[in-house]
Amino acid sequence: MIRNLKDQSLTVKIIIAFSLGAVSGLLIKSMPDSSLLKDLLINECLYISSQLFVSSLKMLVVPMVFVSLVCGVLNLKSMSKIGRLGGKTLALYLSTTAIAISMAIGLALIFEPGAGFSLELNPNFKDTPPPPIRDMIANIIPSNPFAAAAEGEMLQIIIFALLSGAGISMAGNQGQKTAELFHEMNVIIMKILALLLNVVPFGVFVLMCKVFAEQGTEAIRPLLAYCLLVSAALLIQLFICYPALILFLSRLNPFLFLLKIRPVLMFAFSTASSNATIPLNLKVATEKLGVSRSVASFIIPLGATINMDGTAIMQGIATVFIAQAYQIDLGLSDYLTVILTATLASVGTAGAPGVGMITLMMVLRQAGLPFDGIGLIMGVDRILDMVRTAVNVAGDTVAACIVAKSEGELNMSEYQSPLSSSEI
Ligand code: ASP
Repeated sequence: MIRNLKDQSLTVKIIIAFSLGAVSGLLIKSMPDSSLLKDLLINECLYISSQLFVSSLKMLVVPMVFVSLVCGVLNLKSMSKIGRLGGKTLALYLSTTAIAISMAIGLALIFEPGAGFSLELNPNFKDTPPPPIRDMIANIIPSNPFAAAAEGEMLQIIIFALLSGAGISMAGNQGQKTAELFHEMNVIIMKILALLLNVVPFGVFVLMCKVFAEQGTEAIRPLLAYCLLVSAALLIQLFICYPALILFLSRLNPFLFLLKIRPVLMFAFSTASSNATIPLNLKVATEKLGVSRSVASFIIPLGATINMDGTAIMQGIATVFIAQAYQIDLGLSDYLTVILTATLASVGTAGAPGVGMITLMMVLRQAGLPFDGIGLIMGVDRILDMVRTAVNVAGDTVAACIVAKSEGELNMSEYQSPLSSSEI
């Protein structure tokens, strides 16, 4: 039985952990309130283990965002050569992400998925409201980047990472070793993440147990509402926003587009990794959609690194959900902060499973919300990760088609050629 469990995929383990956690939590909840054992389980065992788990993820936020952004800029080094193409791609990537997250926040405000929760803040949580937009802009350049890293000032860290990447790139041959070092550090951070992923089922068990022990069956409705809302927003992006962009910006047939990228969507869904989907996406973009090789080989790998519309959608809804669950009011300037930070967070999210949850902490930090909120949604994140990864990669293919069409680099007869009966 134990061996069987060991051989299961991470997704299955997480689903099992989620269910066991929920059932154990409900059992604890049913104990009398005066019970010493109940108090010990909730306030000692579950509290300590959930803190350890959340801290182990928190630990990676600053190094991961910094290193992954530096590498992102280093990958852009040919931008000056590619010039117009690079500018168009970047503008498209950033604007689609900002639109996606604004739509997500709008939906979360209308449907209020977190309204059913009434969670208490951890006594250690320092309620530091986010600074007004004016101060945020005035302080965006770190006077001391090490202090920014120590304080977790994400926008300052991002600016320093972008400048560092640009500096290393401009140093040419002299910056070569440092560039390699950053790429190596990126690999190492991904390995650490892979190690931590091994304990994710345990973490999910503990977090779900705690949520259900404290909230009882009342936790089910908001969690379900969160999952449904994130899935609905992801499907709107995939089946309404992207086809509309393809149609209106490029006058291309959106149905053919969706039909042809089906294998890419399915692969991204099953691996939950944009990076792993790059080869298949390149193949479909060039062989089925008629994007020229030079455009596709620039836009698709870059998109897998910096363009994450699906991740931004999850982060937008998750932020509003957590604020609602803890009854923290967010104002207009907070939402603008969330849009800005989540757009940048999605740039700093590496295309691998589960990374979006880690960069979500950066958005929560910037919006002045408690990290503990992650515990609410961690249990359901694996399935949502699969859906959002499909949206992430579709966004890259959309950009490849639009930019290729505008540059005269799209082979129309290939794009319009019907699929063979075996491919349908
Ligand atoms: N799994 C996502 C991707 O590879 C990233 C995330 O966790 O949001 O695109």
